[in-house]
Amino acid sequence: MSQPLKETPKHQNRFKSIEVSKQEPSIRSKNFNEVVLGYTEEQAQAEASRCLNCPKPLCVEGCPVGVEIPKFIALIKQKDYDAAIKQVKEKNSLPAICGRVCPQEEQCQKRCILGKKGDAVSIGRLERFVADLEQEKGMAAQAVPELNGKKIAVVGAGPAGLTVAADLAKLGYKVTIYEALHTGGGVLVYGIPEFRLPKRIVQTEIEYIQKLGVELQPDYLIGRIFTVEELFKKGYKAVFIATGAGLPKFLNVPGENLNGIYSANEFLIRVNLMKSYDFPKNKTPIRVGKQVAVIGGGNVALDSARCALRLGADKVTIIYRRTRNEMPARQEEIENAEEEGIVFKYLTAPLKFMGDDQGNVKIMDTISMRLCDADDSGRHQVAPIEGSEEVMDVDTVIVAIGRTPNPIIQGTTPGLKTQRGGIIASDEKFKTSINGVYVGGDIATGEATVISAMGTGKTAAKAIHEYLSKEKQKPKE
Ligand code: FAD
Repeated sequence: MSQPLKETPKHQNRFKSIEVSKQEPSIRSKNFNEVVLGYTEEQAQAEASRCLNCPKPLCVEGCPVGVEIPKFIALIKQKDYDAAIKQVKEKNSLPAICGRVCPQEEQCQKRCILGKKGDAVSIGRLERFVADLEQEKGMAAQAVPELNGKKIAVVGAGPAGLTVAADLAKLGYKVTIYEALHTGGGVLVYGIPEFRLPKRIVQTEIEYIQKLGVELQPDYLIGRIFTVEELFKKGYKAVFIATGAGLPKFLNVPGENLNGIYSANEFLIRVNLMKSYDFPKNKTPIRVGKQVAVIGGGNVALDSARCALRLGADKVTIIYRRTRNEMPARQEEIENAEEEGIVFKYLTAPLKFMGDDQGNVKIMDTISMRLCDADDSGRHQVAPIEGSEEVMDVDTVIVAIGRTPNPIIQGTTPGLKTQRGGIIASDEKFKTSINGVYVGGDIATGEATVISAMGTGKTAAKAIHEYLSKEKQKPKE
């Protein structure tokens, strides 16, 4: 199956991956600079040398966008970094982003043969290494085919919208992305904090997509400024909807409207998009108290907790109703948060909040939970343990228990079928109930990951191309 072990450098154990440098926890917990510093060339060479270059690379099967992983790693080994990043970009237009935030441990790296006996190859870190190198040098514009005369509108500039736009531009379509916010990136800019994903990295990858000829129109709320139907009237031959899952879920417990209780969406948008961590230089303020509780166990909860810590909280406690094993957040980020001193209170759920006479939250009542049998999806259900109520002092609470689709497009597009929770219904190629209208990302799947959103964008781009290549196909008037 694999190449001989003699390729491994003498100093290195084939089954142990090369550690990456990070900012010290005591220092990084007080700043918003990037935590993980990335591989040096020497580290990248040593890590790349671990790849077995399997003849049937399972890692590629594990990548939702199908990056030819062993090929780009082989190019790193040859120190041909330009060719390595070119290889990655054949399939992935956002490599510096994916190299930082993709849950590789659940995807490509989970399938790595080396992972069966030791550490998988750190594919994400190698992807980041070549992508960062290219960004440092300045990205060359990629040659694109002549325009084929067909225009496509994309609604939403998150990872799904950016991916479909890049893939269709590479096929000769004139693509315009309409984005509600003043900048592209979606959750990459309004959700994920600077210390995990610096915004200049996102900006540079968006600029690369613009160099492919994609036009980004910020401040366009589709469904209000134009409807989907009006986009067709403007001459677009197909519309791709990638509006994400931007609506916060709430606990629906007494006292949830007290001052000092944020939805994670509001909190993270203030901190990341409006840069309130740099107030007053940036004009959006944020108030964070000393005793912060964050409700939830996903990436959103961890990002909120780590932002609150950096904004001056004395103690930040994550309240999660299951255990560490069931936490949906990335393993690496759980470890980073633990190192920074975030406290984790498992098997606990909030019951109600109480405030002072000014309406500011002061107390959270909680109850202990126990794990019950797993349901059909394999997820353990939980049940409260009677008589286990406790009281916790809090002055800030951030609710991070999930997000649902934004309903504007669904409500303004007659004939567009939806399913549970407002998700836009589509077939396996992400075609909706309306001819010429495709969908992808969280609005099509429910909240998921950056790479899965990109995967849906790639599938939809192929389907749109297929649809528009059938000349007699008549798009909606
Ligand atoms: P989004 O990224 O949500 O982008 C949708 C875009 O559409 C937004 O820019 C929005 O403004 C725009 N829009 C909405 N409505 C309209 C409209 N009517 N007209 C025009 N534009 C509109 N995933 C990972 O893989 N790793 C992580 O570490 C990770 N961390 C996360 C941390 C946080 C805080 C959050 C919230 C999510 C995280 N995720 C992570 C999940 C991941 O970011 C999402 O699954 C992914 O961004 C979904 O991409 P998308 O393109 O579908 O939507």
